[in-house]
Amino acid sequence: MSDAPIGEFELIRRIQQRATSHPNVILGIGDDAALLRPPGNDVPIVVTTDMLLDGRHFLLAEHGAEAVGYKSLAVNLSDIAAMAARPVAAFVSVAFPRHQAASIADGLMRGMAPLADRFGVALAGGDTNAWDGPLVVCVTVTGEAVPPGPILRSGARVGNAVLVTGPLGGSLLGRHLHPEPRIVEALALIERTPLHALVDLSDGLASDLGHILEQSGGLGATIDADAIPIHPDAQTLAHRSGRSPLEHALADGEDFELCLVVAPESADDLLASPPPGMRLHRVGTIDSEPGLRLRHLNAPTESVSIKGFDHLVSDE
Ligand code: ADP
Ligand code: MG
Repeated sequence: MSDAPIGEFELIRRIQQRATSHPNVILGIGDDAALLRPPGNDVPIVVTTDMLLDGRHFLLAEHGAEAVGYKSLAVNLSDIAAMAARPVAAFVSVAFPRHQAASIADGLMRGMAPLADRFGVALAGGDTNAWDGPLVVCVTVTGEAVPPGPILRSGARVGNAVLVTGPLGGSLLGRHLHPEPRIVEALALIERTPLHALVDLSDGLASDLGHILEQSGGLGATIDADAIPIHPDAQTLAHRSGRSPLEHALADGEDFELCLVVAPESADDLLASPPPGMRLHRVGTIDSEPGLRLRHLNAPTESVSIKGFDHLVSDE
């Protein structure tokens, strides 16, 4: 195999080509979480995992172990929310830098335990290693689907509305360390209306909506530039990056808001009376023509590349 640089998604595709299967794995690689069939054919079990690296997803010396503990569980809960499922158990595997293992372990638990408590998640296992390398934390979370879920990325249909649950962009300024996993929101949404597709925004709206379009049979979407809720952090970051706040809102990773695709009537209903405490924004529409387009009020519609944050090619 050549070692020429390839993107994260291409690498996952290569792995996926060699993936083995089992009849009780209903859904494997490719969504926010996998789905396992429990004995008795009850609601599926949802499983997701995410690994966080010092120097990439956090800076231990700057942010501290407590923030790392919080983030490493929160990003997994976000993937459970992206299936509209209820979290059950967390498994935490850690490679500790040898000489600080005890204090880091304390810090990780200070960040993780209150979040686990808040969402009723049991810490049910993990693995512990120490080495001369940097801190690595890998968390796996299981959950239970909530009927009529789980909600996949693959159910979008032409004419559906695209909504997001909060302002986007600029999470790099610090928000990426303490995302609020949108579990409560996902459960309120699935109870309220049929959800056709759901994803959490970990790689940026353009990229994550791109996954929905691809997995829904090669559809497209038109996004209304003026409807995208832009986080104040995206404005601040734009001053230093030379890119526009809108570009940050479309392409920055780690917003951890939800992007949902619903029938237009559902969108009307949700926007007219959102579930308590929820801020929903209708940002676009699913079309039959593949690709992502950005519609401006007083300028021509432009096409947008479906790429967001890629850990393998980005130096940010
Ligand atoms: P998310 O951003 O929702 O966490 P990712 O982009 O990390 O999703 O992963 C996309 C899909 O690829 C998921 O289904 C994930 O489980 C799978 N995946 C990622 N890396 C690997 C790997 N090394 N082996 C098998 N599956 C993987
Ligand atoms: Mg996800």
